Amino acid sequence: MNHVLNTHTNTLHKPNNEDGIGVAVCGSLREVPLARTQFVSEAELDTYDGVARCGNCFEGTGGY
Ligand SMILES: [Zn+2]
Repeated sequence: MNHVLNTHTNTLHKPNNEDGIGVAVCGSLREVPLARTQFVSEAELDTYDGVARCGNCFEGTGGY
């Protein structure tokens, strides 16, 4: 499963559509330029430091 990383804020969101670009499940990223978002797979996440998961996109996955 892919996620969308806002590289500006280091916040990870769930994509709201198949393309995964544009709007996150929580409605965020709407005003974030594409250059500041990045597709990241679950495995690739291990290579990123200091990434915070969006509480709205990932509610129920712990860490609340
Ligand atoms: Zn979110």
